[in-house]
Formats: sequence, structure tokens, C-alpha cells
Amino acid sequence: MKPLITTLVLLLPFFLVAQNDYWQQEVHYRIDVTLNDLNHTLEGEIGMTYFNHSPDELDTIYLHLWANAFRDQRTAFAKQQLQQGEQAFYFAEPEALGYYSGLAFQVNGQPASWALHRQHPDIAFLLLRTPLRSGDSLRISTPFTLNIPASFSRLGHVEESYQMTQWYPKPAVYDETGWHPMPYLDLGEFYSEFGSYEVSITLPENYVVGATGVLQTESERMFLKKKVSETNDYLSRGVERSYQDEEPFPPSSERLKTIRYTAERVHDFAWFADKRFKVQRSMAVLPGGRRVDTWVMFTKYEEHLWQEAIHFVDRSLRFYSETAGLYPYPQATAVQSALSAGSGMEYPMITVIGPAGTAKALDEVINHEVGHNWFYGVLAFNERRHPWMDEGLTTYYEQRYMQRYYEEDILEDYLPDFLLGQSEMSLEELAYLYQARRHRDQAPDTPSAEFSQLNYFLGAYQKPAVAFRYLEAYVGKTALDAAMQNFYRQWQFRHPCPADLRRALENDLDKNLGWLFEGLLSSNEKMDYAVKGMKNVDNGFQVTVKNQGSIAAPFALSGMRDGEIATTRWYEGFTGKQALSFPTGDYDAIVLDARRLAPELYRQNNRIRSGGLFPRVEKPLISVLPSLENDRRSQLYALPLPAWNNYDKTMLGAVLYNTLVPAKRFEFSLAPLYSFGSRELTGLGELAYHWYLNTEAVQSLTLGLSARSFHFDQNETFDYRRRYTRLMPYLEVELGREAAHPFHHRLQWRSLWIAEEQAQFTDANFNGLRTEEQLIHELSYTGENRRAINPFTFRTALEQQSYTDISGDQHYLKASLEWNQSLTYKEHKNIDIRLFAGGFLINTKREGGSLFPGAFNLISQGFNDYRYDDLYFGRTENEGLWSQQVSLRDGAFKTPLGSAFGLGRSNNFILALNLKADLPQNLPFPLPIKPYFDIGFFDNAQPTGQDDSFQDQLLWSGGLAIDFLDGAFGVYFPFFNSRNLQNRLEERGNYWSRISFNIDFHRLNPFEVIRNIEF
Ligand SMILES: [Zn+2]
Repeated sequence: MKPLITTLVLLLPFFLVAQNDYWQQEVHYRIDVTLNDLNHTLEGEIGMTYFNHSPDELDTIYLHLWANAFRDQRTAFAKQQLQQGEQAFYFAEPEALGYYSGLAFQVNGQPASWALHRQHPDIAFLLLRTPLRSGDSLRISTPFTLNIPASFSRLGHVEESYQMTQWYPKPAVYDETGWHPMPYLDLGEFYSEFGSYEVSITLPENYVVGATGVLQTESERMFLKKKVSETNDYLSRGVERSYQDEEPFPPSSERLKTIRYTAERVHDFAWFADKRFKVQRSMAVLPGGRRVDTWVMFTKYEEHLWQEAIHFVDRSLRFYSETAGLYPYPQATAVQSALSAGSGMEYPMITVIGPAGTAKALDEVINHEVGHNWFYGVLAFNERRHPWMDEGLTTYYEQRYMQRYYEEDILEDYLPDFLLGQSEMSLEELAYLYQARRHRDQAPDTPSAEFSQLNYFLGAYQKPAVAFRYLEAYVGKTALDAAMQNFYRQWQFRHPCPADLRRALENDLDKNLGWLFEGLLSSNEKMDYAVKGMKNVDNGFQVTVKNQGSIAAPFALSGMRDGEIATTRWYEGFTGKQALSFPTGDYDAIVLDARRLAPELYRQNNRIRSGGLFPRVEKPLISVLPSLENDRRSQLYALPLPAWNNYDKTMLGAVLYNTLVPAKRFEFSLAPLYSFGSRELTGLGELAYHWYLNTEAVQSLTLGLSARSFHFDQNETFDYRRRYTRLMPYLEVELGREAAHPFHHRLQWRSLWIAEEQAQFTDANFNGLRTEEQLIHELSYTGENRRAINPFTFRTALEQQSYTDISGDQHYLKASLEWNQSLTYKEHKNIDIRLFAGGFLINTKREGGSLFPGAFNLISQGFNDYRYDDLYFGRTENEGLWSQQVSLRDGAFKTPLGSAFGLGRSNNFILALNLKADLPQNLPFPLPIKPYFDIGFFDNAQPTGQDDSFQDQLLWSGGLAIDFLDGAFGVYFPFFNSRNLQNRLEERGNYWSRISFNIDFHRLNPFEVIRNIEF
């Protein structure tokens, strides 16, 4: 193996013109491999010539062995899969894993001393006997056998379809900040040295291969030519919509072929092999007449879309060459193949594309991945450290391409009309505001591994694309294109960092871009200008604008007439408040950022109208169905709400609320109901004010008030209904967390003021209702780890109540801990273990029996829900269907006993264990049937010496549950019970009276569901 002198000469000029002592390393590869498609291995040899252009002497060379990421559960990739909620790799069969064997590194022909990184088996280092001096080179070589993993991320195979990416050992980057070894990640890309490749692949003759580089084997060119003509024939007969997933593989030829590729000025090499590939070929003519060979390769799956794909590749090459700079490579290929990381993935000169769904989506993903040849391929950023540079810039150009060739708004593709309402919000804006309003977004310039999944999409792709589109609006498309092309020319085949981009743009555009690079890209500070007032002055208007955000970005004011922009003027950014002059004209409103280009946090304060009662917004809009926020109007939603309980009977009303998504600081939802049974007003509601702090310790604070009032008892004999009313002020502290980590926790204080009507009797004569009040205080700490395997939640609480009974003032302080642990024993199959322990630290009625306030319950039902935490259809029923509703609180038994039997209640302590399991196999019908078993002990704390026996205080019960939405709704069929339970159940009646159900309205509440979505 010897270095390719021609490539060296080609690369030399770039090093010579480098300014500021810029240098970069260089690697020339020669790889010879043979694919064995019976046992899915790749066997061969790699030789690399490594050039040290740095001023430093190197005694260690770091190497990436990224295929080792798939070797076990301890790799960074394996851990990230779990953080992302992916279980497939965790439960992978041994033969689906991927790893190297047979590595024996040599340096300059001598066995080298080398080792794997202690923490990351996908990083190795070579210790050099003789340090590599500045300006010198050395040869590293090794044989290797790669066990190709199943498709979990990028590298892999699906049967005999091969995706050979990140597949060979390669040096990490050494640059002016030192070595950059990095473990393979799914969410998080790469950083590699430029150089050249000479790759020979031996495999069965009937494989079609797409690869980085230029094919050097004449017989293979003929083979592809034949494939192209077969494909053209096939397509000319017309193809139908095809989502046929299981296209069979033709048997592999017994004869092997060896095909050879060379590639220059690239930093990676990928190839894809599939015997089923259809092939199309074209030629893209770039501005200036340069011609590029283009290829697409695809299987039957979505072939009706792929028949257009060659055109998408050609058009994309032309588009980026016009806008960003000339495509420097001789060919470009798009292949359709398995990919378990995103919808497409870029490699130099070749991109792999997964299922797309529509021709438009296919065009978009091909354009995006082809575009990475510029922003990743030629401008080789450190993607792991600055993922926004390749993804953000590519997305900016890709969106320009989509705007040029397609018209519709993307949001319309996803949302029904009613939800869109009159909002002009885009899907990207909605996603941004969903996070940013709650201050949960992260700076785009965040290392990949520190992003949460949604924030990776927002930070690396969306926000930088918005920022560059905004810069384009500010400086003009021509000026920005020219500046970007200069940057491209200056930095091509090198490793620019954000500071290099900033310097290049600031020089060319002659602007200070601190607001862009420091504000929008390197922080999660927010942009929020507000138009505060306007008045007529001599030669136009004076518009007062206040910066309520923390980025002093330039902005545009537009004079609007009949909803159209009449005049626009740009202003330099500032902090604080300024009065700005705006040219005269006949406008009905002045709007800041009328084209919706800036990442503005609140838009309703962006406009001012020249007349009307409400200068800021038009009349509030009342609508029945929820819709997205409207810039021009404050909205109120009123959704009809029917309800029912056994005492109020049918209730009808509406839920009125001011927002669903994105979040506002003040939110309310009120549901007043008219009861046809009691002919009175009932209902429930909640008000909340949020402070989104996003500090390390505290993510947000919420001060809220919830209220509910319903009847809970009806007496036919004396013709009265009893009502309860509960008011609950609360303060919730969402504690700080690392965005990428799935652990959430919060502290909550709440006070419950409860008024219950009690019937008064004098000598068995009903004497009217009297209201009794209770005041309960509770402090709780809740934690939740939403990881993919063995997730858990816990809640610990302290509760205090003081009250007066016949014997005087009483009080208690009780503590409880609930732990819910899932054990994931198989993909998407869990055994759920719940532990509950509760005891009274102080109780003046400890030995007073179970009737005193605050008792713990092994069975939670309406009659003992003294905090009125749950909603019941028949809160005080002792028989019939409504007495069979239970809540999974405290002991969480599912046995419906009703208040007639106070079994399982304690004023001292209780302990409970609840088990529930997914069946290992799916049933032939889609019912989530799960066996369950509950066991619990309650101390019935009789006065000293009179305790019941242990057995009397021990309950157990087991059966089958039909359990939906992770336990939010369930029906329970008991099969066996402890004697004490069984006796009471038999007194209750037949088997049907022993079945119970539970509905957790809190977890089914759409407001809660939306607020708790985390990505
Ligand atoms: Zn991308």
C-alpha cells in the first residue's frame, strides 16, 4: 500500500493557501474486503497513510471502530437508544450484534501496541513507539472481520441488503484543539479527516452496489449499464403504487466479482449492496457547464416514487451549485435502503434514503441529503460538537428549494383545517413555541449528545434554518448567497467552525452578527419585540417598539393595508424601548415581522391598529373546536361537555379554555355544568400561572387554583342531596433536569379546602343540611424516569390535617411512599411492581379505629376518597355498578367492597404490594389482558392488646385485568381472594358484583396529556 501521489498533489494547494496557520491532517486509505452474505460478515484488510501536518509531534493515534458500537449494551450508542425510548437494540439477539474481530494493527509494518478505550469499545488508540513528527507520515494497517449488525441505526443489513456505513477503522480528527475521539451515536453525527480512498469489494456477481467515489472496474460499468436498460424497460411498462415490503432476494451467484472505487478529497466512504436494486442514471449539468454523473438505486418498495428520483438528484445538484457553490465531485448517487436513523443519511457522493411516503417527501429528503455534500462533505464541520452547522445550513437551503418547487404550507399536510383555525403558524413554529414558551428549548450550538430528541430537531435543524432565512430577509438573498459562496470557496475541503463562518459573513456583509451567532445560535435567549404605541407625526408615524426579549436582533416594521404588506422598513436591533419613525401611508395596522420570519416568542404584541376599541388585537374569538394560537385575536374556546353522576344525573355545560398549545403564562379551563338531576350548577375548573425559569435547579413554577363541586349522595326518603365543594390552591415546582436525560421530578404543595354537606337528624327526623369544612395540607415530591427499559415513578407525600371532634381538637401528620417499577422482560413487555407504604407520624386518633379522618386504605373507593381527588360516578354507593368503581391509590386493591365494610382501613399504617404483568405473547384478539395480584397489610390499631390477628389484617387478591392506556382505564376480574375479603364479597352478592373498574380522569385529561408530552 502506498500513498496516492496524485491526490497529494491535488490537496497540496489547499494547504498552501491556508491562512492563519490553519492546518489539517490527511489520511489515504486502501481497503480490500470480501462480503460473505451467508454469515453477514465482511473480511479484509485496511491500510492507511496518515500525514501529520500539525505542528505537533504525536505519540498516540486515536482510531474510530464505530461498528463496535453494536457489540453490547454498554456502548454509548446502546445507552442513547434507551434514552430515545428504543428497545430493539436492548433486546437484540446475539447474531444481530455488530463488532470487529481479528484486528491486528501494524504501524509501518511493525506490530503496534494498541488498546480499546476503557469506556468506549468503538474508540481505539495506537501508542507509537517513535512519535510521529510534524510533517511526517506513517502507515497503519490491520486485517479485520466485521460482523455486520442488523439494522439498528446506520450500519447494518436486512437479510441480504447491506448498508455499509461507518464500517471501517479510521483515525479520529486531530485539529488545533487536539484529538476528537467520539463514540458512535444515533443522534449525533461525525467528524473525520479528508483524504483519498481506494476500495476493492469482492462479492457475489449479481449484487448491485452504490458507493462513494468513482467506479474503476469496466465489467461492473457494463453490468450497471445493463441494469439501467432493464430498469428503463421495466418502468416504461408503468409501475403501480407499491409498498410491498417483502420483495424476495434472488439467490446469490456462486461466482464472485471484485469491483474497485477511488474517491478523492472526501472524509468518508460508504457503500450499499442489494441484488434487487433497480438502477437509473442521468447527467446533471451545473452552472458553468460542469457535468456530474448521477445515479439512483431502489427496490420495489415505493418504486412508483423512485421513478422520479433521478430528476430530484439532478435538480438538487443544480440548486446547491447555484446557491451555495459548485459541486466538486464527479458523481452523485441516491440509494433507497434500510435506515434506522432518520429518513435519510448523507455520505460523500452517496446518500441513503428510507421510506418517504410521497413524491414530495422523497424530493425533500433527497434534496436534504444531497445538500449535505456541501454542508458536511465539502465543508467538513465537527458535526458532533456543532450539529447545527451541517443540519441547520442544509435545512435552510432545503427549505428554499421546497419553496421554489412546491407551494403548500407544510402544516396543512399534517393538521386538520379546524385545528389550523385562522392561525398562520407553521409546524416548525409550533414545535419551537411548544418548547420555547416553556423555556425548554436548547441553544442550537449544543453538542449532539446533550440535546433531547425534540430539541435536536429544533436546535440543529429548525432554529438555525429560521435564523438564516431571517438573515436572508435582512441582508437580501443576493448578498447572503454571495457571502456563503465566498465562505464555501475559502473553506472547501477543510474544517470550519462557527467562528470561521461568523468572521466570513461579517466581513462580506459588513454587519455585526452578534445577534445571530451569540443570540439565536449560541443561546436559548428569546426574541420578543412588542409594538407599544404609534402616533402621527409631521412626516409619517412614530412607532414605539420595546424589546421584551433578550436578543437585540434587527427587525422589520410593515404598514398593512387590507391584510397585505404595503411598506416595510428594517431597523437595527436594540434593547429597551425606542420611538422609531415610519414612513407615512394609509395603513390599518403596523406589524412587526409581518412575514413571520423571526423566531418571535409572542406575536400578539407585534401589531398595533390605527383605530378600534382594542388597538392591539381584534375582538376575542370564540370557537368551539381547539385551534392554534392566532396572532390577531385572543381566543376563547368553548367545547360542549356532557357529564353524569348518580346524584346530579345528566349534566350539560361547556369547557371554556384559553389555550391548549403552545403554552401561555396564564392558562385556564373551566367547565360549569348544569345538573338536570339536582337542577343546580356543578362543575370543575382550573386556573394556573406559570413562570418558566429554566434554571439548573428549577425548570418552572406554577401557581394554580383548582375547584370542583358536585353532589355525592342522594337520600330518597328525606329527599335531599348532599354536595361537596373543593378548592385547591397549589404551587408546583418542576425541578431542573438535563434535557437529554429522561428523569423528571417536581415538588408540589397543595391545600385542600373541602366543604361537605352533612344531614342533620333530630330523633330520626331530617333536620336539614349543615356544611362541614376540612382543611388538609400536603407536600409531595414526585419523580419519573421515562427511560425505555425498566422505567419507574415514585411519589412521596406528607399530609397534615387538624380537626375537631366530640372529644376535642385532633390532628395528624402522615407520610407515604408509592413506588412504581416496571421490569421490561421483553420488547414492550413489562412486569409492573408497585409498592406502597404509608404511616402516621403523629395521630391523636391512632387507636380510634378506621372512621377518623385521613385513614389509609388498602381499597380506595368513593366513600373513603376524603380528599376528593378522584371523580366517581357513584361516590357513596354500596351496591350496584357504581359501587364497583375503585381508584388505584394507597393500597390499590381492586376489590369493590363499598362503605358497608371498612376492611383494609388504618389510622396507623398500611403496606401493599401490587403486581401486574403483560402476557409474553400477544393474544389473537387485541385485548390488553394482564394477570394481577395485590397483597397488603393494614394495622387496625386497636387499643393495646386487642389487635386483630395477623391474618385478619392481611388481604390478598388476584385475577385478570383488562387494562388500557397504561392503567388509566381498567376492568378487574378477581379469581382468588384472602378469606376475609372473600367472606365480604360473598355477602355482597354474585360474581358480577366483585368485578371492579377504574378510570383515572386526571390521566385522561387532554390538557394534562398535552402538557406532559416529552420528546
Ligand atoms: Zn441532515
